Order: sequence, then C-alpha cells, then structure tokens
Amino acid sequence: MKIHEYQAKQLFEKFGIPTTLGSVATTSEDAVSIAEAMGLPVVLKAQVLTGGRGKAGGVKIADSLKDVKEIARTILGLTIKDCRVLKLLVTPAVNIRSESYLGLLIDRSISKVTFIGCAEGGVDIEETAKTCPSKLLRLELSVKELSSLTEADCMPFARGLLADAPQAIDAAKIMVAMGKMFLAQDCSLIEINPLVVDEAGTLQALDAKVLFDDNALFRHPENTALNDPDAEDPDEAIARNSHLTFVRLDGEIGCMVNGAGLAMATMDTIKYYKGSPANFLDAGGSSDPAKAIAGLKLILSDKRVKAIFINIFGGITRCDDVANGILAARKQFEVNVPIVIRLVGTNEAEGRKLISGSGMIVADTMEQGAQMAVEMGQRS
Ligand code: GDP
Ligand code: MN
Repeated sequence: MKIHEYQAKQLFEKFGIPTTLGSVATTSEDAVSIAEAMGLPVVLKAQVLTGGRGKAGGVKIADSLKDVKEIARTILGLTIKDCRVLKLLVTPAVNIRSESYLGLLIDRSISKVTFIGCAEGGVDIEETAKTCPSKLLRLELSVKELSSLTEADCMPFARGLLADAPQAIDAAKIMVAMGKMFLAQDCSLIEINPLVVDEAGTLQALDAKVLFDDNALFRHPENTALNDPDAEDPDEAIARNSHLTFVRLDGEIGCMVNGAGLAMATMDTIKYYKGSPANFLDAGGSSDPAKAIAGLKLILSDKRVKAIFINIFGGITRCDDVANGILAARKQFEVNVPIVIRLVGTNEAEGRKLISGSGMIVADTMEQGAQMAVEMGQRS
C-alpha cells in the first residue's frame, strides 16, 4: 500500500527522521493561509501516489503570497500520470547545499533488507542505477541484523554518502531510525530522495516515499486508515477489498482462475493458442461467490476484452459456489462477451448443472477451454 508524502513525513517525525513536515491544503486559499503562518518562501507539492512530480510541474517554490495563490491553483488543477491532484503539501523552503539519495528496501534476489545510497540524489535514481551503477552504495542486512543495527554499523555506508564526518554521523542516525521504522511498520520500502544538507549543515528528508507490505497490514489498522480512496487506482481498490490478486494486461481474453499457479498456466495456454490474456486474476482458494462477482466486474471494465475464460480447479473452492457467483454477477450487470468455463473438482456436477442452459460454454479441459475462448474472442 502506498501513502502520500505528507503521511510518510508524519511517520518520519514519529521515528526521529528529520524532515520538513508542513501542512496540507485542498484549496489555493488554504495554501495562502498556511504559507502566511509558516513564513515565506514555501514549497508547494502535489500529493499524488506517483513519482516524478517535480518534472511534471507538481513541485514549486513560492516567494510571495501572490505566487502561492497562483501556483497552488495551477498545481491543484494538474493531473500527473493519471492521478488528479486534490491535495497540496505546503512546507518551508530549504536552502539546499547538497542532495543525496537514501533508500531501504527488500532485495528479494538475495533475501536481504538493503540500504541503497547515492551521493548524487534528487535526480532519477533508476537512471543512475542504469547508467552508473558504481555510484550506488549498498548495505545488505538480514532482518536480524537490521533489528540490532547500530550507528557504527552504518558508518562506512554513511561516509560514502556524505564525506563530511558530522554529516555522516547524522546520516547513520537516520539509517538506524529508518531500520526501526521499517520493521515496526512492516514497510516494503522507505525512500528519501532527496536527503539534503541545508545551509546550516543539517540533514533533512525533503521527500518521503513509504510502501507498506499489504500482507502485514492487518497488524497495523492505523496504517490501513491512511489509505486515500480518492488517490487509489479504482481497480486495485476493488481487488484489494474483494481479496483478489488482479493485474491488468493488454490482451483480449479475460481470465478468472483460482490459484496463482493455475492462473499463470492458464495465461500460458491462452498464448499457446495464439490468444493474449487481458489480465491475471487469482481468486484464491476460497468459495465466496462475491469474489466471482468482483472478478467479472474487474474483467469487464476493460473494453478490450472479447471473451472470458473461467478456469476453476475445485479443492477448497467449490464449483457450485463459483457457478452461483457467476450467475449472480450476470443478474447484476450485463455480460456482453462470451464466457467459456471449465469446472472440475469439488461439487463439479452441481456447478455444471447450475450453469447449464445459461448460455455459457462449458469446456472439459483447460486446453479445450483456452482454445475455445481464443476462438470466440476472434469471432466477436
Ligand atoms: P519528486 O519530483 O516527486 O521526487 O519531488 P521532490 O519532493 O523530490 O522534489 C523534487 C525536487 O524539488 C527536489 O529534488 C529538489 O531539488 C526540489 N525541492 C524540493 N523541495 C525543495 C526545497 O525546500 N528547496 C529547494 N531549493 N528545492 C526543493
Ligand atoms: Mn523525490
């Protein structure tokens, strides 16, 4: 789960990571009163759940209240990478002496939590990683090592980030605080870009990006509450609320499958028959008809979908529950593309009986079902 910069900065403050906290405005008038109380100059920052706001004109410094009003109005009218800007963070402007990059993430390829650093921050770190990987610093830690991390452990890395000794010590302190926050909040990413040294030589997190591990959110109701429904991708919201794993792709065959492995095999089989999957959808190993309804709704919201292949291997999932879910969905909204369905396993006979006469095409095997869905898709 993603959160906004202003929310991430509030967590930074709680964990002792120095940052420019600021206040949030939703109108240009709000922005002006905040700036008036804060003192000029201020930075106005679009709060959207996507990166590269600076380049898109979503981060601007204002020196006068007149500028605040005009810039706030402009930024609040922007759409950055499909995200409408509805909130604006107003922070005191910092005079920057230097910018660096500091991130903490899970490197799954080595099963370690890893600090990534770069003395040249602010810019696009993905670009630096590609063009000049030798500029990146790494500190790879097991979870156990992270849980007992000390400033001394961080010093070699911190000195690579900032040559000045007192500043390196401050960076090491920030790293220890990031480690505590990462574990305590079950984060999957904490990113500070830029981490700046200001005119007084003080370190500050000028930007903040935090991702929470969705699978651990149940332990943090206060973090779940940070979710901003206005800013979230509507598909992702439906999928999460319905406990579906859903990834939209660009093909024409919608897929609804129970189990991630079977879902991938289904996509491969569709490809084998020269079709192209419109999505990955794992409805999981449960028997809730509501999932079938939500799944079909997600699939059908993509107008490129020409046919749907429902591939169910019933174990814990009961085929009759899935059939009931699909029938209920067809009562709730119009399904105007052909559906091919393969139902095998628990309560298969009951499931097939329910859908007989419904106009859906029943396949006996996965191969047959995939092939029929591809053919129906080409015809419609
Ligand atoms: P991003 O583009 O979404 O990563 O937004 P950032 O918050 O990182 O801001 C982009 C850039 O704006 C930073 O790298 C800084 O160069 C600049 N910037 C942000 N805040 C300030 C500030 O307080 N003072 C100055 N001088 N520049 C800032
Ligand atoms: Mn940034």
